Amino acid sequence: MSEFKDSLLKFRLKRSLEILASKKGQHTELVTLYVPHDRQISDVTNNLRQELGTASNIKSKTTRKNVQDAIESTLQRIKLFKKPPQTGLAIFSGAIPQNGPGSERMEVYVVVPPEPINLYYYRCDNRFHIEPLREMLKEKDTYGILVLDSSGAAFATLKGITLDIVRKITSGIPGKHRAGGQSARRFERFREAEVNEYFKRIGKYANKIFLKIPDLKGIIIGGPGPTKYDFEKENLLHYTLKDKILTTIDTAYVGEQGVEELVEKSTDVLKEVRYFEEKKLVQKFLYEIGHDTGLAIYGENEVRKSLEKGTVSLLLLSEDLVKKRVTIKCKNCDHQAQKTMTQQDIKNMQKWLDSKSCPKCSVPNLVIDKTEDLIDELAKLADQSRAKIEIISPKTEEGVALKKSFGGVAAILRYKQ
Ligand SMILES: [Zn+2]
Repeated sequence: MSEFKDSLLKFRLKRSLEILASKKGQHTELVTLYVPHDRQISDVTNNLRQELGTASNIKSKTTRKNVQDAIESTLQRIKLFKKPPQTGLAIFSGAIPQNGPGSERMEVYVVVPPEPINLYYYRCDNRFHIEPLREMLKEKDTYGILVLDSSGAAFATLKGITLDIVRKITSGIPGKHRAGGQSARRFERFREAEVNEYFKRIGKYANKIFLKIPDLKGIIIGGPGPTKYDFEKENLLHYTLKDKILTTIDTAYVGEQGVEELVEKSTDVLKEVRYFEEKKLVQKFLYEIGHDTGLAIYGENEVRKSLEKGTVSLLLLSEDLVKKRVTIKCKNCDHQAQKTMTQQDIKNMQKWLDSKSCPKCSVPNLVIDKTEDLIDELAKLADQSRAKIEIISPKTEEGVALKKSFGGVAAILRYKQ
């Protein structure tokens, strides 16, 4: 999975989960099914047929029918796959009341998760079980942790809530007080050389440990006293790692305890990483606009044109963009048209179409052919020309500006048009 699609995948999952969470069954009749990638489809269909048999014992006639229908629908969907996708599969199906009891309609949702599903899971309940997918929305980025003082250093990684101490080293530096008989200058020089040696070792380990992590999001350095600053000044970290230093924090301890202390103290910093990332992304766009470089464009139509030409390098979409892209077609000829509209507009659209005739063949036979999220439609266009996509939340001032002043759709171009 390419890393730059992270914000889009997360956004899509978030939207699906909002829909799924809002669905409630009348009784225990909504089916949730999780299938890991290595499970044979035939195993799954056998299992579902067994569940179908078990369901025939349900006493209430309506519940029995609803459960059986839900399992049948799940079976039909799973059969469309020769094998589960790389990350597995989740299917949600059931009779959902549309407008109070008696108005149930069968709804089926298929979710291909952005991260691997590792369990096989079947449940029938009055709600859909979305917890395993919700887990995927949590912070999973990896951070490098370095805690040091003049006595020793510890290297750790933090992924989600998993803290892993990778290595601990001692400095071997003698204390500040020389033994009797040593000349003060000679001792000082000796100590300095030892410190240099120690810093070089820290640099070597840090580079070795942190450069290996492909998606390292940032590094946090900590420790008691000034040694950590002295180390930073020495410039011993690989330049790509140096760029990733998020902050330096004072701790009371070194070693494992120091690492834990540092993680505790940096919770706020870690929470803010995406926040600052989003700020920077929009600021980049605002810079191009402000300096009139010709590299920034905004507004749905203009951006769509550039996406189609393949000249977009970075596409910024506001998370609050709730519009739909609708394809209208003529059932009499090959006429097709696309329009962006709100969900509300779509409701009145068919009525409006019924009163119109086709601009090409003049026969009044226009229908809505396809409806999709505007974000998904633009993301597809971006994908075709390998443009980066970032979904920007309204959490930052810049994110709000993107929505309010630029219509929620903006782009930075590869070159001036
Ligand atoms: Zn026509």
